[in-house]
This record gives sequence, structure tokens and C-alpha cells, in this order.
Amino acid sequence: MKKSFFIFFALAAFLSTAGFSAKQNNLLDRLAEDYVKLALAVGAYSPGYIDAYYGPPDWVVKHDDSVLRRGFPAAELRKKANGIIKNLDTAASGHLSALEKLRVDFLRKQTMAIRAEIDVLGGKKFVFDMETKAFYDVVAPVHKREEFEKTIAALEADLPGTGSIQERLAALRSKLIIPADKLPIVFNAAIAECRRRTLAHIELPKNENFQAEYVKDKPWGAYNWYQGNAYSLIEVNTDLPMDISGPLRLAAHEGYPGHHVYNVLLEQKLVKERGWIEFTVYPLFSPQSLIAEGTADYGVELIFSDEEKMKFEKEVLYPLAGLDPRHAARYARVQKLISGLRYAENEAARGYLDGKISKKDAIAWLICYALESPARAAKSIDFWNQYRSYLINYNLGQDIIRNYIEKTAGADQSLKRKWQIFYDILSTPRTPSGLK
Ligand SMILES: [Zn+2]
Repeated sequence: MKKSFFIFFALAAFLSTAGFSAKQNNLLDRLAEDYVKLALAVGAYSPGYIDAYYGPPDWVVKHDDSVLRRGFPAAELRKKANGIIKNLDTAASGHLSALEKLRVDFLRKQTMAIRAEIDVLGGKKFVFDMETKAFYDVVAPVHKREEFEKTIAALEADLPGTGSIQERLAALRSKLIIPADKLPIVFNAAIAECRRRTLAHIELPKNENFQAEYVKDKPWGAYNWYQGNAYSLIEVNTDLPMDISGPLRLAAHEGYPGHHVYNVLLEQKLVKERGWIEFTVYPLFSPQSLIAEGTADYGVELIFSDEEKMKFEKEVLYPLAGLDPRHAARYARVQKLISGLRYAENEAARGYLDGKISKKDAIAWLICYALESPARAAKSIDFWNQYRSYLINYNLGQDIIRNYIEKTAGADQSLKRKWQIFYDILSTPRTPSGLK
């Protein structure tokens, strides 16, 4: 009885707002199309800005040299961005479902980030914290060197011996490098396990698939190039030797339940089932990157407990790589502690990109407080030079995702509940400030 009353009530409510909702949806769909076209228009002037696009092919903008020589049309594009934002504000004041509200908020924040990129391409300079706010909807907290020194001191127990802590860590790592010819077999085993564990919690379309390739001369460690139709190209950079802690982290991050799963779910749930065209484009310097990197880095915590992860590495990955599994437990503890140094990179990048410290000082800081090898530290600088403040999406993103999931789960901190919330984040429009 109660149930049928509810259905009648819901139906009446639906009928009274249906006309209005349809109008709102038309407006939102039109604004979503404008947003995609604006992102592509900016991307035509900024190589690498469009990370993925699988919408209508004839929307892609390609300019010949004569158009590019005329310069970047900042004022014209800025006006378009402002128009979209203004119309979104109007849409937001109407009657919207909870999901539509998320949609409007997402489109508004994404368009604001595109407007910031228009300003940058037009010559405006942002300092680090302003840039992260404009692009990623967050400001990264400042961390003091004392915090990192405490974590580094805690490493002493697992890295005994003489020499600096960096030298002792390098000596251990040198025993744990995966031989180049074994990397594909180790990575394949890692990604198969991450996929198996993810599919136990999340249903994906039957045709979902990926291809892994090994590349060189890149500023990043690995990259997921989403192609649409549930398919990812995952590139792994082999410039630097990879130690045994790498494959699981990369497989979870780029594949399952990270970027591949995120992109597949957005395509399936929002583009295919709802026709929300805005998810066919992914402008790199936008709040979506914090959600993408944060969920990708959190994913490995979700599919493995520390103990399970160490056990899998020891029993499967070490033997496949031909490495001595007796190091597994100690190296897992070392890696866990080192993950507490992730924010050290933000401090060096903030100083370096704001012109307050030199490249040499930034490298010295990374070696000292992030315990990066000199080669890895040089790669970090290459990454900042190309992607600027993007790095905060990893460490801060992971913490924002973890905190949101734990807070939303409340009294029920079961794995099942955490997967449900994680799935909701991956399959609905989200913004970093919306997860606070
Ligand atoms: Zn990533």
C-alpha cells in the first residue's frame, strides 16, 4: 500500500516537472556540446591538452600554419567560456535531479579550467597555488621538512648499515631491478591480478580491453591513452630501470581499477546510457585530472591490503622477475614508509615553478626529502616543465578520494561499502571541491 502510494506520488511529481526537465536537459546537452567544442578549439593550439577524445570526429579542430601564425584567439575563446558558465548558472537555478546537479557543477568547473588555460595560452602567469586552484579546483597544503625527516628516520630500521640513507636505499633497490626482458611478463601478471580483483567488485562491458606497449624518451612513468569503445592503450616508459614495486602500482593506476576502468565507466554510464557528450573529451589541465589520478592512486589500496600486496609480489612477481623473494617483506615496509614522502615533491615543485629555487636546488631537495634517485629527480623536473603543477593530482588526489570514501562510509568501513562509493565516484560527474 505504502509502495503504490509512493509510485503514484513519484509519477505525479514526474509529470508536473517533465516538461521543465526536458527543457533543462536540452539546455544542458547544448552547453555540453559547446563545452566539448571549446575544449577542442583550445586543444588545437596546445599539443597534449586533449588527453582523450572519442566524440564526433568532425568536431576535431585542426588549423593549418596560416591560422596558427595569426596567434591564439584568447578574447574570442574566453567569451565563449564565459557564455557557457553564465548559461550553466542559469541552468543551476532550475529544478535538477541530484545527478543533474553534479553534471552542472562538473561542466562549470571544467569550463572554468578551460578558461584558465585560455588565459595561460594568452600569456597570463599563474603562481603554483593559483594554478592548482584554477585548473584542479584545489590548493595543495604546505608540508614542512620536519615531517619528511621524521618519516626518513623511521626508515633506519629497515635500511641498516653505513652510508647515507639514500645510498642504503639505492643498494637495496639495485637488487630489485626487473631485468628489461622480464618486464612484459611481470607487468602482464600484475595487470591480470589487478583486473581479476577489480572485476570481483565492478561489472564492466564484455568488450573492455587494453594493449600494453613499452616506450622511451617520455617525462612520465606510464600513460593511459583512452581510445573509446572500452579500449585503452597503456604505455610504460622504460627510460629508467623499474624495480619490483613498480608493476602493481602501475597496473592498478593505469588499468584496474584506475584510468582504464574510470574511462570505461564514464563512457558506458554517462556517454552511452545518458548521451552526455561532455565525457567524450578529457582536457588534461582540469579538475577531472584530480579525480582521475586520485582514484587511480587510491585503487591499489582498495584491491590489496598491505599484506596481500606483499604476498602477491613475493609469491608471483619476484619469481617471474628472477629476484630473491626474501627481500619482499622488508622492501614492502620501505615502500610503505616512502609513500609518506609523496608531498615532498609538491614543496620542491612549488618553489621551482614559482622561481624561488633553482633546478639544482629542486633536484637536491627531491634526493634529500623524497628519496628520489638523481635520475628520477631529473625526470621529475622534466615532468614539471611539461605539466607544471599537475603533480598535486596524485598525492592530494589520493588523499581527497580516501578521505571522501572513509567519511561517506561512516560506521560501515567494510570493503564492500568502500567499493560502492568508489564505483559512484568513477561513474558519475565529480569535482574535487564536491568531494570535500
Ligand atoms: Zn595517471
